[in-house]
Amino acid sequence: MKESIVIHWFRRDLRLQDNAALYNALKSGKKVLPIFIFDRQILDKLPKRDLRVVFIHQTLLALKEELQSWGSDLQVFYGETESVWRELLQQHNISAVFTNRDYEPYAIARDTRIRDILSDKQIALLDYKDHVIFEFNEVLKDDGKPYTVYTPYSKKWKALLDPYYYKPYPTETYFKNFLKFEASKMPELEEMGFDNTPFTFPASQSSRSVISNYHLNRDLPAINGTSRLGLHFRFGTISIREKVGKALAINEKYLNELIWRDFYIQIMANFPHAMKGAFKPAYDGIEWQNNEAHFKAWCEGKTGYPIVDAGMRELNTTGFMHNRVRMIVASFLCKHLLIDWRWGETYFAEKLLDFELASNNGGWQWAAGSGVDAAPYFRIFNPYLQTEKFDSKFEYIKRWVPEFGTSQYPKEIVEHTKARELCLEVYKRALKISD
Ligand SMILES: Cc1cc2nc3c(=O)[nH]c(=O)nc-3n(C[C@H](O)[C@H](O)[C@H](O)COP(=O)(O)OP(=O)(O)OC[C@H]3O[C@@H](n4cnc5c(N)ncnc54)[C@H](O)[C@@H]3O)c2cc1C
Repeated sequence: MKESIVIHWFRRDLRLQDNAALYNALKSGKKVLPIFIFDRQILDKLPKRDLRVVFIHQTLLALKEELQSWGSDLQVFYGETESVWRELLQQHNISAVFTNRDYEPYAIARDTRIRDILSDKQIALLDYKDHVIFEFNEVLKDDGKPYTVYTPYSKKWKALLDPYYYKPYPTETYFKNFLKFEASKMPELEEMGFDNTPFTFPASQSSRSVISNYHLNRDLPAINGTSRLGLHFRFGTISIREKVGKALAINEKYLNELIWRDFYIQIMANFPHAMKGAFKPAYDGIEWQNNEAHFKAWCEGKTGYPIVDAGMRELNTTGFMHNRVRMIVASFLCKHLLIDWRWGETYFAEKLLDFELASNNGGWQWAAGSGVDAAPYFRIFNPYLQTEKFDSKFEYIKRWVPEFGTSQYPKEIVEHTKARELCLEVYKRALKISD
């Protein structure tokens, strides 16, 4: 009879420290086999040069090394998730599977399928809260309904927060409970169809001074005034509990941003319809112009609006764009160019290293006006005024648009005042607003 073991299934919680499900697996009394699956259903749709896959691959190599120092290893699979689980069921005598909850619609559907396969063998899939501080049903209005406005949500969030919610899970105390086995090779990026592109990813720690001055610098794209931790939150290479604990001690403005993250995740879980169309259905009636040439100019950073072009070029080069500039380029696409926000949402999803379905959708619907707590339809950012306020010396613009101010720089693809008027007209028609 094979030894009865438990499995910890890593997904977007790629760390050993302060990991809720891993802690519970290690304390279960059985030896823990850690696994990760490169899911073909996700990978097959990604471009060859996807840097996020490179990041995951690098992170898994580091995890393997850490586990090998405990005489264990991370078993990494490449294939269709269901088939991998069928294989695991044949190879091992599994008594339970531990994992951290993922709230994206694709993940929920996948986990339901795996839960069914496991339950046929009387094996439980035990899932834990790890990715957020509060679950989608833990911060609710007094009538028991979910919040759709950020400020009252954040007030309730803060009122409910006590140290219990951000206390770390001391996984390291139990590392001796990992299953000991011979190290195995993990699939190479090239075998899975990806380029091993050399790239320096943002560090998983931001300096204390960035966080303590966050409220002063966060809106200035030319300086390094934000934490750049999005990628690490996305893949769980850092713990949200640890960062909330630090934010509480150092800077409330920074804490507020982490609450935005919980806010949009609960919106996704409570209102999944918003991941496909407008949260406010009337906005689905907007007659978008969807001019392909304009979209191409926007993607390439050639709109003739320097702050927009700088942002798009930063994104195309680094996989990152400053939040203030994300708001400007998104507003420009929806309102100046009258292009469906979902085109922009998809482009960001392909390019952003820190891509999160919930926050990206939230950010885009905020800009288009169609989302929860969104910018009103008549608020149309003027890219020049935004530049005056947030990049008055054109430092950020010059960094990304070297031909700025020369005859090489493209002409504006639309004229601001005319674009603004047209936008108001089109939005009012859809929303049935008369003057
Ligand atoms: C159109 C648009 C699209 C966006 N797409 C994404 C996305 O795909 N993924 C993503 O994580 N954020 C997204 N954001 C939110 C925000 O721009 C990024 O989180 C932030 O710029 C990441 O940089 P940072 O790590 O330096 O953030 P910091 O300013 O240092 O903030 C720390 C962390 O707080 C969270 N956070 C900050 N602002 C927000 C916000 N408005 N909503 C939700 N979480 C927030 C992030 O996890 C971030 O890493 C989007 C915003 C807009 C306007």
